Amino acid sequence: MNRGVKQLDELTQKQLETWAKEAQRRSQLGQLPTYIPQLAQVNPQEVVVQILTLTGKSFQAGNQSLRFPLMSVMKPFLLLNRLVELGEDEVFKRVGVQPSDQPFNSLEQLQADDGWPRNPMLNSGAIALAALLPGQNAGSRCDYLCSWLNQTAHCQLVLDQAILESVRSAPNPRNQRLIARLQGSGYVEHPDLTLDTYNQICCLSATISDLAELGLLLVKPPDLKWQVPSRMVKALMMTCGLYEASGQFAVDVGLPTKSGVSGAVLSIIPQQGAIACYSPPLDPEGNSVGSLFLIQKIAQSLGLSVFN
Ligand code: GLN
Repeated sequence: MNRGVKQLDELTQKQLETWAKEAQRRSQLGQLPTYIPQLAQVNPQEVVVQILTLTGKSFQAGNQSLRFPLMSVMKPFLLLNRLVELGEDEVFKRVGVQPSDQPFNSLEQLQADDGWPRNPMLNSGAIALAALLPGQNAGSRCDYLCSWLNQTAHCQLVLDQAILESVRSAPNPRNQRLIARLQGSGYVEHPDLTLDTYNQICCLSATISDLAELGLLLVKPPDLKWQVPSRMVKALMMTCGLYEASGQFAVDVGLPTKSGVSGAVLSIIPQQGAIACYSPPLDPEGNSVGSLFLIQKIAQSLGLSVFN
């Protein structure tokens, strides 16, 4: 579609506020996750959104200073970092690009694939990539990724120690089994170090503006060297970013999108901008009900699907 005007720029602040209120009502259909104790204690009513456009516009609703852990929304940026620094050959020797109809922490998928991590948006794939970060210990590996992103995306990600303690207080048996299987198949050498690195990366926290800035990295790569990696990351967000719901969302909305179990969601509108949302209650696939509703409303109303 080329109407001479970027569709995202036609959004109005008033529309966004109305839709955010509707998203808040819909979010009551979701549930807070309980397997990370601290995520069960957040305010389920919170709906926060920020949209940044390449033309320099910004739209927002909700508490812009709230910080939240990014959780799996970090996975595309871990992939981006490894692709930029190692190149696609090295990275895709360690993780696949196939979608999955299994949940994000599925051991069954990894077993069925003989220990090969199917894609980088699943826990298995992100753990395999966390194993490739440089650094002596989990803290320095997580810092490395965090500083790289803060410098290039002009954001201020910070490790949330309280949520990290909460994750460590309730060790996740599924992730432990995933990592043991990945060690068995040779994709992870140091299981404790790698699991701790992965957990720390998931506990990087952001404001909604930080998340939208991260999104712009994928819309406007800062360097020519980032162009191909950034295209690959967006393709994998489209096909795998919402786990089992990815195919339906591609049909309904048509935007590369990644969710996290905290309720954070990031969508990319190629050539135009990024939509960052946070609303904690989740649907059965582990995706934020309010955030997905809001992104769908914006995308359908403005005709943003990349397939238009
Ligand atoms: N740290 C979380 C986990 O591994 C991330 C998962 C998610 O956000 N879907 O369970």
